[in-house]
Amino acid sequence: MLGATGSIGDSALDVIARHPDRFVVAALTAHRQWEALAELCRRHRPEVAALSDPDAAQALARALAGQGLPTRVLAGEAGLVEAAALAGADTVVAAIVGAAGLRPTLAAARAGKRILLANKEALVIGGAAFMAAVDAGGATLLPVDSEHNAIFQCLPAGYARDPAAAGIRRILLTASGGPFRTRPHAELAAVTAAEACAHPNWVMGRKISVDSATMMNKGLEMIEAHWLFGVSRESIEIVVHPESVVHSLVEYVDGSVLAQLGHPDMRTPIAQALAFPVRVDTGVPTLELARRGSLTFEAPDHDRFPCLGLACAALDAGGTAPAVLNAANEIAVEAFLGGRIRFTDIAPACAEALARLPARPVRALEDALAADAEARAVARAWLKLPIAA
Ligand code: NDP
Repeated sequence: MLGATGSIGDSALDVIARHPDRFVVAALTAHRQWEALAELCRRHRPEVAALSDPDAAQALARALAGQGLPTRVLAGEAGLVEAAALAGADTVVAAIVGAAGLRPTLAAARAGKRILLANKEALVIGGAAFMAAVDAGGATLLPVDSEHNAIFQCLPAGYARDPAAAGIRRILLTASGGPFRTRPHAELAAVTAAEACAHPNWVMGRKISVDSATMMNKGLEMIEAHWLFGVSRESIEIVVHPESVVHSLVEYVDGSVLAQLGHPDMRTPIAQALAFPVRVDTGVPTLELARRGSLTFEAPDHDRFPCLGLACAALDAGGTAPAVLNAANEIAVEAFLGGRIRFTDIAPACAEALARLPARPVRALEDALAADAEARAVARAWLKLPIAA
């Protein structure tokens, strides 16, 4: 479990704890929340626990010493990479937030694991090179992002990234519209981080909450869908669906449209992927449609949410452009969460990075990582942030 102390980690461990006969936790990782990880180690008794922050890893080792646990503590990115490739684990939940998840998730791919992918940024950065590593390692990617998991559930069994062969006309990616769906344009400059993180339907980590508020999340998801399902941008349509009950849809050439519905609760897609192809109980309540009344759909507003257009442009440009977009967005979101920039500075910072760093081909992952580093520098400079921010 990469990112065990986060929102996805919490939901995944909840599902796992309901099925001790089926799942055993082999390794848990986090960044620096060593106390939270220590508590999870006591509860799940993993073989390995890893923290990317070396000081936090030392604190964890001290906290676990003498407690009779089977847990070895590892430190740094190398520790996370070792945990992701652990021989005793067949499945890796990739739930680190942001680019930090790329190398551990890649290690899981190279080790041929079944990867439950929540960390969309890793796929957005790595693109074709990431997919090639998955194929070369004999790994399997199962989407955990609720929209992609819904699409996966609506695709024919054994779907092999070939929409034409499967008779697919379009993928309809639903979006809640986030907390500012109806907020007038003129008010967006003054919104706070707390408001941006107060998502109407989902409880999530702070970074993805802000991405949801700017709708960059949907842009990143469009790129994710492109790689996961082999669909072109033209055949992905974004539909705003404020109730977050229809998690996405697949339209076939005969006019059939298949959708997956459910309560907005990440335990459903996580359990679907964890136990696939079997279905297991999650504690998610029954969907009472009559009580819900109506489900509504509308087109996205590209003027108020320019990040969507930037993601389309990055996908069209290809090569390093998605990595540039993602890196600039990570810098801007972190600065917004830290109170250093306005909400409306996020999209222009991403646009600046895309404009300043024209797309180059990605021959190897190092090309994408170099673009990521350049984009971070461009975004920091444009936002007038300290270099080490
Ligand atoms: P959180 O912020 O809640 O959790 C992030 C996790 O990653 C924590 O365990 C954190 O450790 C760890 N982490 C953070 N930075 C680093 C780092 N530099 N190195 C190693 N580990 C790190 O995020 P979420 O759970 O919300 O999201 C995780 C991923 O899942 C994201 O990519 C997101 O887009 C995706 N996702 C999330 C959904 C949700 O409902 N939350 C839905 C769909 C996708 P620590 O606690 O120690 O900081």
